[in-house]
Amino acid sequence: MGCNWTIQCLYWLPIYFHSVGSKSCDNICNLNIEPNQISSVSLQLFINNEWQDAVSKRSFPTINPATGEVICQVAEADKADVDKAVKAAREAFRFGSPWRRMDASDRGLLLSRLADAIERDTAYLAVSDAVPFLILECLLSVCVCMCVHRYYAGWADKWEGKTIPIDGDFFCYTRHEPIGVCGQIIPWNFPLLMQAWKLGPALATGNTVVMKVAEQTPLTALYVASLIKEVGFPPGVVNILPGMGPSAGSAIASHMDVDKVAFTGSTEVGHLIQQASGSSNLKKVTLELGGKSPNIIMSDANMAEAVEQSHFALFFNQGQCCCAGSRTYVQDTIYDEFMERSVERAKSRVVGDPFNMKTEQGPQVTNTEQFKKILGYISSGKREGAKLMCGGGVAADRGYFIQPTIFGDVQDGMTIAREEIFGPVMQILKFKTLEEVVERANDTKYGLAAAVFTKDIDKAHYISSGLRAGTVWINCYDVFGVQAPFGGYKYSGNGRELGEYGLDNYTEVKTVTIKVPQKNS
Ligand code: NAD
Ligand code: MN
Repeated sequence: MGCNWTIQCLYWLPIYFHSVGSKSCDNICNLNIEPNQISSVSLQLFINNEWQDAVSKRSFPTINPATGEVICQVAEADKADVDKAVKAAREAFRFGSPWRRMDASDRGLLLSRLADAIERDTAYLAVSDAVPFLILECLLSVCVCMCVHRYYAGWADKWEGKTIPIDGDFFCYTRHEPIGVCGQIIPWNFPLLMQAWKLGPALATGNTVVMKVAEQTPLTALYVASLIKEVGFPPGVVNILPGMGPSAGSAIASHMDVDKVAFTGSTEVGHLIQQASGSSNLKKVTLELGGKSPNIIMSDANMAEAVEQSHFALFFNQGQCCCAGSRTYVQDTIYDEFMERSVERAKSRVVGDPFNMKTEQGPQVTNTEQFKKILGYISSGKREGAKLMCGGGVAADRGYFIQPTIFGDVQDGMTIAREEIFGPVMQILKFKTLEEVVERANDTKYGLAAAVFTKDIDKAHYISSGLRAGTVWINCYDVFGVQAPFGGYKYSGNGRELGEYGLDNYTEVKTVTIKVPQKNS
């Protein structure tokens, strides 16, 4: 494997490599790890810094979606294991425990050591993360994961309260305290990233964690658990449970001794998480849910850039992004040219072996249900009268591959324009005016992300202020900074992850008021 891989195809990859140095890149090239060397340190549950079988002794398979073959069996947590993990996390959170007594700067040091260990093991992590994804994109994930931990390591001793000039003879200040035992439930579409986005801020602020990882992608999370133990986090601070949503996931969401739950996944399950909080202990809830993000191309946009970025906006990660640009609104005067070029680009997309550096699109996630759902959306598009411009079918006779697909003449009311497809299916819609497109872009229950391509700064500002979405990209797409918040309006969730705002999700604010006598008595 040479170092000369197609970094250019993900134009923001160099930004991250730049920020972490070139070391990681060299690591992966030299080590040359093969997928069959994946033998996760442990395939058990990680509770109280120990590897344990599930109480039920049950396990479930991890499948390679490129071949449909079983890679290994992983222990399957359910309610009994969640109870054990919550107990360990509660004990680790006890007032006076090593974790609670630890200096904030030392918490930061542990996070920073975790980032170092992740960097050291970049090759291993990228390869095992790549089981359902592209190796190239997983290298990126490892780097971002490292950056997230480094970033929050720095915050640990800088998350300051205030002194507040209240009326009267009092001294008033706030303390930023951890919320307590945090349940974290993460999806499969970016396993390493989602784990880092959740762990970084929770640990920097001094919480303890019970994390349920997605049943499709448990391997890297368990490997990171081994690093958490290696670098010296006290027992019980982080507990990692592979398992199913309706059993292990819902046990966390409805647990009476969990203080907070952070969830990323479907809007449907988001409703269940919020309800479970309401009918148990009113635990705090933050949600990062689905989207149907509009991507608006004005007639004055740089055509080549707009086509490439819109392609990337939808097809990146096999279309499995919560913020995928899945409604591409193109101004009428450039519609035909944009369509022609987009179809050309989609047809040239390289679909195949996820471990080949030249591959742009691998299989969909290991989940027959998900695969059928995408094909079902393609049928609905045809049925409801959208024009199939390319793709539309299965791309290989084994594994879960789908052809890069584009629909034209899409109308706002069509199912493919309203629901999250989570696959390589692009919807292109036509619009005339600025006012019209802002209104149509907002006519969705979601509000996660949006983009606009234009050379006109006035239009860019007009559209970005009008859009009801947590993130707006202008002349770019999917540019994330660990320093910048990300999250949704409306059904796309609540709370913001990453950046300083991400710390709020894991913080209780305590107001302390002290009487200060004004004269000697
Ligand atoms: P999901 O919401 O069912 O799963 C996400 C996580 O929640 C997983 O860990 C899962 O085990 C857990 N979960 C499932 N049911 C649960 C329950 N009742 N209680 C507690 N936890 C539960 O998502 P999915 O089934 O993997 O994918 C379905 C759709 O969700 C996708 O097609 C896509 O539209 C959307 N999705 C969005 C994101 C995102 O980043 N916003 C990520 C993955 C999937
Ligand atoms: Mn589900």
